[in-house]
Amino acid sequence: MTTLATPPSATGPDRLLDRALASPLRGIAEKVQAGRRLSPEDGATLFRTPDVHAVCAMADLVRRRMHGDRAYYNVNRHINYSNVCALSCKFCAFFRKEGEDGAYEMSLDQIRAEAAKAAEGGATELHIVGGLHPRLPFDYYTSMLRTIRETAPQIHIKAFTAVEIVHLARITRRWKDRAEGIRAVLQDLKDAGLGSLPGGGAEVFDDRVHDEAYRGKIRSDEWLDVHRVAHELGLNTNATMLYGHIEQHGDRLHHLELLRTQQDRTLRDWAAAQGIADQADGAVVLSGPAASYPRERLPMPGAAGLRTGYFQTIIPLPFFPDDSELERLPGPSGLENLRTLAVARLMLDNFPHVKAFWIMQTLPMAQVMLQNGADDLDGTVVWYDITKLGGSSTHQEVSVGDLRRAIREAGLEPIERDTLYRPVMRDGRAWRI
Ligand code: SF4
Repeated sequence: MTTLATPPSATGPDRLLDRALASPLRGIAEKVQAGRRLSPEDGATLFRTPDVHAVCAMADLVRRRMHGDRAYYNVNRHINYSNVCALSCKFCAFFRKEGEDGAYEMSLDQIRAEAAKAAEGGATELHIVGGLHPRLPFDYYTSMLRTIRETAPQIHIKAFTAVEIVHLARITRRWKDRAEGIRAVLQDLKDAGLGSLPGGGAEVFDDRVHDEAYRGKIRSDEWLDVHRVAHELGLNTNATMLYGHIEQHGDRLHHLELLRTQQDRTLRDWAAAQGIADQADGAVVLSGPAASYPRERLPMPGAAGLRTGYFQTIIPLPFFPDDSELERLPGPSGLENLRTLAVARLMLDNFPHVKAFWIMQTLPMAQVMLQNGADDLDGTVVWYDITKLGGSSTHQEVSVGDLRRAIREAGLEPIERDTLYRPVMRDGRAWRI
């Protein structure tokens, strides 16, 4: 019989974990307790089992090992600089064609004004994404970054999905050598002030789903290449997974597996320098019990032996059918949202963070997720145009007080973080790391 790392207990989430240990999930629960990597077959079982709460309890155990009672939020603003897009992804309710009603692109003066408002409001981050505009020149993007740098030098700029980066490589005719084209674009953007990449545009890494729902968008290998090169240039990035449309559970697991493999490669040297024992297959598991992996040693910018960027967080994004070409689909249910986030926490054992992006999950749902694998709610946001929940207003914002209350009610300690997950010391609108 396998020896368990910690004795079973009988209260709260531990009681649920005990139930998993006594159920058909026992083999998986033992692996989670021992900090061993789960296989794709384990992942399939986690998606199939009717015992969603046992899956969530295992994710909560991992989350508590990695972050204790801490949960993160940030003070940020979003800028969607243009909704004009050359593509027409079926799940997208955001894009417009040039000249169409509602199509817009922001001027540099408007961007400057947004940056000034963000700085005045004490934001630590600007999150910037937009459509693939067919006519805006590359200079618009670098000027945007420089304008923000001049106006709000302290603010971290997290900008441009991998899809936009590839678009920029194409419009600057630097696409012939893919890796070099991506590198040149990212280097120019970094020189202009880019601090990190968001995780959007990944959708689900499957060619069938790609061709049916977002033909024309970059495929998984290109998305992963952009993030690999960004990491090589020292930029941290995030990853998303858009689920609940025409994909299957197996597609979600394949997506998570590709991310996990790439993160293994990225963190391997650092893990070796830290003395974190690689498993036989080269896996770098950050979610083991404290005895095998102290949580203070999660990768952080500037950590000894860490010479590259890395994936910081996985952000599972539920599909919203409203106003999209896939409006006939129901979208994922609450339990499906909970399960998918928990499975992401369990499978991505080498990702430091799992974000319950409140603006797409709703704040009440994101709060529940804090007890089921998530350690981060994202931020105050202010103006998010990409997804319109139930056709509601696009101006979405919560206060710091709301975020902190949601975290406290979940039994956790709210920690304000910057984009790179460093704790923020705040005095009103003034802040420092
Ligand atoms: S998802 Fe992005 S790339 Fe696709 S149509 Fe919408 S804005 Fe364009």
